[in-house]
Amino acid sequence: MTKSDARLRRAIGLDVGGTKIAGGVVDGAGGVIERISDRPAPTFGKRAVVRALLDVIAELTRRHHVDAIGIGAAGLVDWPEGRIRWSPNNGYTDLPLRRVIEDSTGLPTAVDNDANVAAWAEANAATEGLDRDYSVMLTVGTGLGGGFILAGEIFRGSSGVAAEVGHMFVDSRSREICSCGNNGCLESLASGTALGRAGRLAAEAEPHGLLARLGGGPDGVSGLVVRQAANLGDPTALALFERLGYWLGVGAATLTTLLDLRSIIVGGGLVAAGDLFLPHMRSSLERHIFARQHRILPEIASARLGSEAGWIGAGMLSLHELYRTESNGADVRT
Ligand SMILES: [Zn+2]
Repeated sequence: MTKSDARLRRAIGLDVGGTKIAGGVVDGAGGVIERISDRPAPTFGKRAVVRALLDVIAELTRRHHVDAIGIGAAGLVDWPEGRIRWSPNNGYTDLPLRRVIEDSTGLPTAVDNDANVAAWAEANAATEGLDRDYSVMLTVGTGLGGGFILAGEIFRGSSGVAAEVGHMFVDSRSREICSCGNNGCLESLASGTALGRAGRLAAEAEPHGLLARLGGGPDGVSGLVVRQAANLGDPTALALFERLGYWLGVGAATLTTLLDLRSIIVGGGLVAAGDLFLPHMRSSLERHIFARQHRILPEIASARLGSEAGWIGAGMLSLHELYRTESNGADVRT
């Protein structure tokens, strides 16, 4: 099979997040053949998650001939075993998802971290204009995820759990406790959760301010309320987005200093408000990067596939791995 044949093949792609399962059928170039409506993700229990995934797979295989299955899952995922070690939002540990799905369906399956597959989709399905062979995708949503593409391949570290950019320690003065239990993590300063928390503190300090009024009191202030207030020109809310951009820029500068990146793709739910923080992220990156005058600065760009990057990338990755396996097999035979 040639690489162009691989692009004509089809795969099921699935994205298991903290709250929902998204998915559909794609070809090897990332073209969407069908997308399903989002399903709620079971919040605990391995069997419930596996059953929900197999239901979707059965539904899609009734309508399409597919060659492989790809799954992106939130949490720590061993590669290539596809074993989910720990997924704090889904409440399960030690789930050998790849083996379970392959045994049940008979189809070759790839299971990887959700941020990795999203980065893979952004690097391969939306290549126009940007050099994405050395790129990091930052997923700014409830938390802060990261996916690294280095020399055109996903970089996963020795066992698959690299690129946890949200848990880089960046601020020794911060008292914000992160979802991981540490303090001073980038995620605790630059995520939707961090934005909402900072908004509540600001509303407490200004009980008659716009944030408190839009939230119906400090406790009602969420990241979305901060965004509404910022769009109305509220200086407090705008300053919170500036702070978000500042910390993302700190993270982007550190990653680029280490990895000599060409592009930084920003995705996740908050990218819809990118105008409010991406310029601040850019200036913070320039301020914190090593040897600014003597290097090519990376471009910062918004993700193009939006919330679909995860499942599209999972499907594409499964076909990439199928092609790689078959190519290696041919090598052995000759
Ligand atoms: Zn953390």
